[in-house]
Amino acid sequence: MADKRDYYEVLGVDKNADDAAIKAAYRKLAKKYHPDMNPGDKEAEAKFKEASEAYGVLSDAEKRRQYDQYGHAAFDGGMGGNPFGEYSSMDFADIFGDIFGDIFGGSRRRQSNGPMKGANLRTSVRLKFEEAVFGCKKQIELDVKETCKTCNGSGAKPGSSVDTCPKCGGKGKVVFSTQSFFGVMQNVQSCPDCRGTGRIIREKCPDCGGSGYVSMRKRYEVEFPAGVDNGQFKRMSGLGEPGQNGGPRGDVLVEAVIDRHPIFQREDRDIYSTVQVSYAVAALGGEIVIDTVDGPVIYDVKPGTATDTRVRLRGKGVPSLRDARSRGDHYVLLNVQVPTKLSAKAKELLKEFDAECGDSLHAAERFREEHNGENVDAGKKKKKKGLFG
Ligand SMILES: [Zn+2]
Ligand SMILES: [Zn+2]
Repeated sequence: MADKRDYYEVLGVDKNADDAAIKAAYRKLAKKYHPDMNPGDKEAEAKFKEASEAYGVLSDAEKRRQYDQYGHAAFDGGMGGNPFGEYSSMDFADIFGDIFGDIFGGSRRRQSNGPMKGANLRTSVRLKFEEAVFGCKKQIELDVKETCKTCNGSGAKPGSSVDTCPKCGGKGKVVFSTQSFFGVMQNVQSCPDCRGTGRIIREKCPDCGGSGYVSMRKRYEVEFPAGVDNGQFKRMSGLGEPGQNGGPRGDVLVEAVIDRHPIFQREDRDIYSTVQVSYAVAALGGEIVIDTVDGPVIYDVKPGTATDTRVRLRGKGVPSLRDARSRGDHYVLLNVQVPTKLSAKAKELLKEFDAECGDSLHAAERFREEHNGENVDAGKKKKKKGLFG
């Protein structure tokens, strides 16, 4: 026990790491070192066991408390020798989820005879930009398996007899022996005759065809909190597929798919938009109207504002998922417009304005005078002439 590594060190997490961080760290290690991913690699196997043992302790609030207080001594003579004994209390499917879906998916299902949580159902729903910002309720419809009321889930026609499967004696499992290179292998498999139920139905229920389930179209109301972001899931516990052998129902996972907004862009909790400002307002200063998710606000542009100036509207962004009162900001890019269509009067005024300002705008004229018209490209001369023409 003396050379045992610290559990936090094994998982590479901080002593104050929360459950999610611990789980994430374990998933990462388990994915890397899982024996199925590293066949025959003893070192990987040892690392996998070490990580699993650390996770077994740190994922359990009571065990973690004991470990924090007494270290490895807390478990001497206890679970120390057999980390895999802890698996029974861990939600294996939940930890590995999609990562190991391919590896364990089939076999886990075939071998298990105990209560199993039903499958999760996934769906998505479209949210308008503002609905995601302020939260909303959405209706969804799903086809959900329900226990058949006619047969109460037995799959047998009411009044008909259900026999114990003679092949497996009602256990639902059978042992197959196969000769292999390594000797005789014994495999426990789901009974093919009763498909693991341990029962043989003589007459099938007419309403569910013997499955024990009927599919029903169901409506649910899903509440999305203010601040939900694109691709986030709302989990509705216990509304998914029915469990097996008395296990709980799976969950419904509803993904938020957020529509693009014509003028707002969102990045986490901040909102970005661009507003056009007239040349005169940019130069002289003045009030403009800026659209925000809270509605239009009046903003006072400072005199002499350059184009691409960014202004911040504090607290006009997206609420935090944890605390809706805490909101991000709205950043507005002020785009100063150079006028392209000018009336004769506007042109006159601009010329007057130019004359008033003097200096740099007349650099070309001064240049020409200084050089007596020499070395001045004809093409450029033509263009310059057309400046106010
Ligand atoms: Zn039925
Ligand atoms: Zn059977």
